[in-house]
Amino acid sequence: MRHLAIGTVAVTLAVGVGVGSWIERADISVGHVLKNTFDALSPGMALADETEPEISPIQVRDRPRDAYYPNTEDLDPNEMRVVACGTGMPTTRAAQAAACFLVELGNGDKFFFDIGSGSSERISSLQIPYNYLDKVFVGHLHTDHFGALHELFIGGALMGRNRPLRVWGPSGSVPELGTAAATDSMKDMLLWDLSARVGATDPRGYQMDVTEFDYKGENEIIYEENGVVVRSFPAIHGIDGAVSFSLEWNDLKFVYSSDTYPNKWFIEYAKDADIAIHECFIAVPDIVGKLGFTPESALEVGTQIHTAPEAFGKVMSEIQPRIAVAYHFFNDFDTAGGVEERIRTTYDGPLSLAEDFMVWNVTKDDIRVRMAVTEEHTWSPPLSEPPIPPGENDRQTFAEKQGIPVESVGFSDFIEGGKWDVDDALRPIYEQASEALGRDFPYPGD
Ligand SMILES: [Zn+2]
Ligand SMILES: [Zn+2]
Repeated sequence: MRHLAIGTVAVTLAVGVGVGSWIERADISVGHVLKNTFDALSPGMALADETEPEISPIQVRDRPRDAYYPNTEDLDPNEMRVVACGTGMPTTRAAQAAACFLVELGNGDKFFFDIGSGSSERISSLQIPYNYLDKVFVGHLHTDHFGALHELFIGGALMGRNRPLRVWGPSGSVPELGTAAATDSMKDMLLWDLSARVGATDPRGYQMDVTEFDYKGENEIIYEENGVVVRSFPAIHGIDGAVSFSLEWNDLKFVYSSDTYPNKWFIEYAKDADIAIHECFIAVPDIVGKLGFTPESALEVGTQIHTAPEAFGKVMSEIQPRIAVAYHFFNDFDTAGGVEERIRTTYDGPLSLAEDFMVWNVTKDDIRVRMAVTEEHTWSPPLSEPPIPPGENDRQTFAEKQGIPVESVGFSDFIEGGKWDVDDALRPIYEQASEALGRDFPYPGD
């Protein structure tokens, strides 16, 4: 442990734990960390306010809690709200899904930037009607950035999206490596899933509209609707075909790196962002010590393929966002300190070390950072539009469209013949429903 005196405040930093302490440093600019200092407090703040009712053991005080409870706050017409639905790694874990950020705007629009593995559970926890969650921008085609796309596609349709899912993603150096090829293959992969679903629920959500754009576009507009402009610019990650994004609306600018080595495009096009989210990988010693990589591959992955914390800080010092957000590392009690310490060797501005369900409310005057409080036992969110019942010919139409025999989207006589007779147990359910709802629900086969 090491003590640094900042003004009158002594701040203790955890330094020197395990392999995380490879590099000893002395020049930590802790004074600019917004939290943990007295700078932001006003002189009378700690004194009792005589206008407030006295504390009582049985009456609660009407005092807002410093957490975000989804679906309890209006979004101001001028406000942008960003919710981290995944901040971790390809190896997802209960505490962190892989990359996914939701941007909600005061004009009613909502956008996903990346939709990595594990993020669909976070999304459902927010209880947002799925018709509003119909736009996804994918930065590159690693599973930790689009591995939950098929889950949003199918699960979203089941939970109330009755319009196509719109997806934007980059081309590749050859057509086979582009987003359109990936989503076409995904639809092929889902053929059994869809074949077995059509005819049972509202069919309108089982469509995906994909826009593939040139990954070499430099600050090219790829989306412009309703006062919102999304641009893409190249990223350097894996192989050709990774991109970063900016979203501009109402004089607010959100930028998102997806994955990239520090690059000239981000430096140029992310400048002056209100909120800049950039990948920041686990510190190299922890890649060895906790992920079990060899030092050689840890150095390669942690500094050359991804952005090391020290390089993240250098990028942010250059673009000067109102708030910098680091993601793409396992954010634990024994890793966060090391990551922040390394970032602080090169950056002393406002910073969030992202974790899942961190929320940023961004206006021109203020940026408020909180954690969302969510339930795990969520059901479907409210519907923004009522569903329609499936049509009688949905299966046939689907099979014709897919070029597969109609009988393939049903049961063969062989399987149908395996049904054990439980009609006497099920028939009363139809009778109860008919009686309770005042409509006739005939038992199948009657
Ligand atoms: Zn990646
Ligand atoms: Zn990644």
